[in-house]
Amino acid sequence: MIVEKAGEVLERHGLCDHCLGRLFARLGKGTNEERGRAIRFVLNMKRSTEGLPPIGEPEKCELCGNVFERIPELVERMKESSEGIEFETFLVGSRFPEEVREKEGAIWREFGIDTAEPINREFNRELGKAFGMATGKDTAKNPDVVFIVEPYSGEIELQINPLYVYGRYRKLARGIPQTPLPDFEDSVASIICRAFSRASGGKCIFKGAGREDVDVRMLGNGRPFIVEIKRPKKRKLDLDAIAEAINASGKVEVLNLRFVSPKEAEEVLTKNHRKEYLALVLVEDGVTPEEAEEVAEKLRGLEIRQRTPWRVRKVRADRVRVKRVHEAEARWLDEKHFELRLITDGGLYIKELVSGDKGRTQPSVTSLLGKPAWCERLDVLNILDD
Ligand SMILES: [Zn+2]
Repeated sequence: MIVEKAGEVLERHGLCDHCLGRLFARLGKGTNEERGRAIRFVLNMKRSTEGLPPIGEPEKCELCGNVFERIPELVERMKESSEGIEFETFLVGSRFPEEVREKEGAIWREFGIDTAEPINREFNRELGKAFGMATGKDTAKNPDVVFIVEPYSGEIELQINPLYVYGRYRKLARGIPQTPLPDFEDSVASIICRAFSRASGGKCIFKGAGREDVDVRMLGNGRPFIVEIKRPKKRKLDLDAIAEAINASGKVEVLNLRFVSPKEAEEVLTKNHRKEYLALVLVEDGVTPEEAEEVAEKLRGLEIRQRTPWRVRKVRADRVRVKRVHEAEARWLDEKHFELRLITDGGLYIKELVSGDKGRTQPSVTSLLGKPAWCERLDVLNILDD
């Protein structure tokens, strides 16, 4: 059956062993070239018993134009295009001209062949094998790099997949925005990205899991973040050395750096965890230790209805969020000040929880005290995500 069909095809079309074997790719094992050679061998034995001349491989294959002979040259081009790029795993994709794919489909239809494999599949596999042999690199499902090859022009496009690093940062000083702002020399993002860009040779994008205001410190176990490094030249980064370089800034410290998958990176950025805060509360009209204690007691377990704060109304959708205060402790300092240590749901605005934001946050320290209170200083002590 196979040999008969192969004979019919070869009488009409001059195909190389690759293209002949590929018509029967789903039958048996081995490469298409081996399969094509074996089928041709048996066919020609049969033809010789019938007194017919053998059908050898054509000088130039009518379907592929002997494209498989170009593989050694393409391997060299792939090596050149990836020079200076660190990677362990790769994949090959190829762009075949429309006319080749159409011609192939026409042969399948002409002879009713349903056991074939498309040319680009075989080509990708054979080119990948040859490149792996030449370089000792492996193919992988989520590779470090992808070569997109135009087999006839020999053009190579090198896609370098990004790297993702998870970490937590502490912001030790006030007056540093999380991401660059006009009038500020540094930001958490720029301090962290500088070290990663230098080590990787790639473009670095910082994404924090939430943010704190410019004048708020981030202490304790730090805030989770993800660094995405686009087109890294180096992938085997010494994360300890990078942490050391960042920590030398004296303004920002990073902890727990480790590589993560794109999926883990996504999860880190979308979860909203409880947070522990320390707020310094100013009461111009005066406050007693008993009043401070009473406010903390009322806050404990309290549900807060918070309309989007006035100061961020232009950048956040205007709506009412319901959040809970889980823990609250007061420490009286002097007749106008006390400290509030709070554990709240993620996404509760603490400055407005204190001031009341002209009634937009209900209840608030102001409403519970019955006199205006103001958050003079705020630190995030911990993000409770463990
Ligand atoms: Zn061919």
